[in-house]
Amino acid sequence: TQSCLTAIDAAGALNAFVHKTPELAMERAKAADERLKGDDAPAMCGLPIGIKDLFCTKGVDSQAGSRILEGFKPEYESTVSQNLIDNGAVMLGKLNMDEFAMGSSNETSVYGNAVSPWRRGNDDAELTPGGSSGGSASAVAADLCLAATGTDTGGSIRQPAAFTGTVGIKPTYGRCSRWGVVAFASSLDQAGPMTKSVRDAAIMLEAMCGHDVKDSTSADLAVPNFEAMLTGDIKGKKIGIPKEYRMDGMPGEIEQLWADGTAMLKAAGAEIVDISLPHTKYALPAYYVIAPAEASSNLARYDGVRYGHRATLEAGDGITEMYEKTRAEGFGHEVQRRVMIGTYVLSAGFYDAYYNRARRVRTLIKKDFEDVFAAGVDAILTPATPSAAFGLGEMTDADPVQMYLNDVFTVTVNLAGLPGISVPAGLDAQGLPLGLQLIGKPWEEGDLLNTAYALE
Ligand code: GLN
Repeated sequence: TQSCLTAIDAAGALNAFVHKTPELAMERAKAADERLKGDDAPAMCGLPIGIKDLFCTKGVDSQAGSRILEGFKPEYESTVSQNLIDNGAVMLGKLNMDEFAMGSSNETSVYGNAVSPWRRGNDDAELTPGGSSGGSASAVAADLCLAATGTDTGGSIRQPAAFTGTVGIKPTYGRCSRWGVVAFASSLDQAGPMTKSVRDAAIMLEAMCGHDVKDSTSADLAVPNFEAMLTGDIKGKKIGIPKEYRMDGMPGEIEQLWADGTAMLKAAGAEIVDISLPHTKYALPAYYVIAPAEASSNLARYDGVRYGHRATLEAGDGITEMYEKTRAEGFGHEVQRRVMIGTYVLSAGFYDAYYNRARRVRTLIKKDFEDVFAAGVDAILTPATPSAAFGLGEMTDADPVQMYLNDVFTVTVNLAGLPGISVPAGLDAQGLPLGLQLIGKPWEEGDLLNTAYALE
């Protein structure tokens, strides 16, 4: 804990930790020391970790990367972070992220962007660690903590993991409790671990997840010992390669990465099969209707009364002006864009044309996966992202849709509620990490982790 705290102070330029909790960390580390003297210390006892700013942590700033939650110190602890505390983990502080987890580069954060510790060859230009869990990815990649929590609504664990050479798993929807995690799109949001290795991910996922009566969508299922399932034996497993993920204009090195990953799994004894997920091309548009729709509803609660920031009012301002000014000042541009898209697609005249249609597409996407799994496929291999990390500022003036394209391989998994993992799979020509994604059957994170272990 002490050495991580020192490393965090020395790595201020990465802007990964945005609220540091050194006293609390040392207190918990000392308590963990005591527990370690016994013989029933839990798996994460004494391990220093970072927590994404989206998680409510009792008495510690929890801002979701937004100005509107400035000064918000929750009275309660999210279930996931409480589970980690109970497991002996030591929180070092809160990690940078895109505002309300909306973004793919950590550039929408009120704290300013997190920076990746990676560089392209000898070029000094700063790169994005990805988003929205950019601070988590940067901190793990730079060894500022042993692991971190992330959340993934449309790729926000897997894309930053791929960009920083770390491992990130989004579990099956319902595996981790969403209680106390600031809501973005409730039917898609899932927490998960971001770690250095598949083994660490297995250990941390087990510590984080489990049934929680406080979240009605949390699954009442036993939590397996994921680490014990890491045998590396994947002989006879059927791995599907979906043809629809072979996008036009896919960079040669991504194609190569995918082919190399396929060859590795084959060499480990897996059977490789070509599969089709016919509705893939509708996933991104459906996601960018459903996620903003849910966000516009979830973000209605930030009214200047219940939490955080309130605008300074002028004489004569009433409650409407208070709402308007608070929300105009408190939300950044991307969040405002999502709220506008969301309220538009939910409005009486357009509800059927956009929101209901997107929901129908979502059902078809889910069915594509169900059909493939019913035909005997155990896991699906795809690239995690369409490119390696891009430079900070490179996309600032681009059409927002360019940024959304980052999520092309990851959002299908959220729409279908499936577990997905990004595993580091080599470097590109400029020395930047690239990730492969494995998608598994619902509730079979153990098998998925084991397949990822064979690829690692
Ligand atoms: N890029 C996605 C978005 O902006 C990331 C969402 C997420 O997983 N939190 O919606």
